[in-house]
Amino acid sequence: MFALFTFLEQIASEARVANNLGVSTHVSELVINISKLSLGGHQRSLEASPAAVGLDARFTKPVHVEVEMEKNPRQIYARVEFETGGKFMCDRCLDEIEREVKTGYSVVYVMDGDAPENVKGSEEIQAITPDTNTVDIGEDVRQYALLALPFKILCREDCAGLCPTCGTNWNKAKCDCKDEEIDPRWEGLKQIPKN
Ligand SMILES: [Zn+2]
Ligand SMILES: [Zn+2]
Repeated sequence: MFALFTFLEQIASEARVANNLGVSTHVSELVINISKLSLGGHQRSLEASPAAVGLDARFTKPVHVEVEMEKNPRQIYARVEFETGGKFMCDRCLDEIEREVKTGYSVVYVMDGDAPENVKGSEEIQAITPDTNTVDIGEDVRQYALLALPFKILCREDCAGLCPTCGTNWNKAKCDCKDEEIDPRWEGLKQIPKN
């Protein structure tokens, strides 16, 4: 068990190192070829299925990505904007809801050993070497897509939720047990373990 844990830890740290060099072991479909990129501005449009990026089954819409890059001799500054979407579950009434996910981030690919230039501090910094031919932005896109989801996903701000007694969706119907509703002040007591 301990050996397995150490092994997994080692894989994780190797994955991190690989990521830092801009060459992730998992290849998504969101790969940008930078081997012959000339100095100056560049634009790329990419598309991938949510699964190819590693997003879970809630995401059903293709991931559209627009990348603006600015290359100088020491670094490539990239602004990544993307959109996808899917079917999510309301945290309160458990209804399925469709949601668009539209977000973006900035990343600076810096020649290994150089300090990034003209950064605001909100960018990711990733090291590349003169041998780096491609950068895979799939993992970054996956993480930013998940970050863009609200902490609580609601079908609407004032979603009435489900009756805790009979399970009626109060957005759609009323039920007769409303009067027996547990006083919210006592709700916490139910959580106390009985031992
Ligand atoms: Zn709801
Ligand atoms: Zn009820």
